[in-house]
Amino acid sequence: MKLPKFNGLKPVKCDDCGHSADFIRKIFSIGNVKNDKHCDDEVQGIISSHIRKSYGIAYVFFKTSNGKFYADSACCPKCQSTRIVFDIELTDDFLRQASKLTGKSVEELQRGIKVTAERIKKINEVRLH
Ligand SMILES: [Zn+2]
Repeated sequence: MKLPKFNGLKPVKCDDCGHSADFIRKIFSIGNVKNDKHCDDEVQGIISSHIRKSYGIAYVFFKTSNGKFYADSACCPKCQSTRIVFDIELTDDFLRQASKLTGKSVEELQRGIKVTAERIKKINEVRLH
C-alpha cells in the first residue's frame, strides 16, 4: 500500500529564482538502512552528503513507502538549483483518497500530515544551518 501523505508532497517553487513548474524529480532508493533509522538525523545527514557529492544535489527529502527508504529531490529547469520548496497538497480529494487507502478518518490524516510537515520543516532547518 502506498503512503498517500507522501504522494501529496510535491515541488512548488524554486527558492532561488521563483520558478514554479516543470521540476525534474530525482528519486533515490536507499538500501541497507534499518526501518528504525529512517528518521535518524545522522543517517539522513550521511545520505544527503553522499548524494550531494555524487550527484550535485544539495537538497533532498526523505520518505518511507512500503518499508522502502527513498530520498526525493527536485531540480529547477530554469536555474538548475535544487533548493526547491516542497508543499503538501491538502485538497479534499486527496484527503478522501488517503482516507480510503489507510482506513483513517480525514481528521486523523490532517493531524498526521501536520506532523509530517513539521518533520520536513525540521529537516530543512537542519540543512540550512
Ligand atoms: Zn530556479
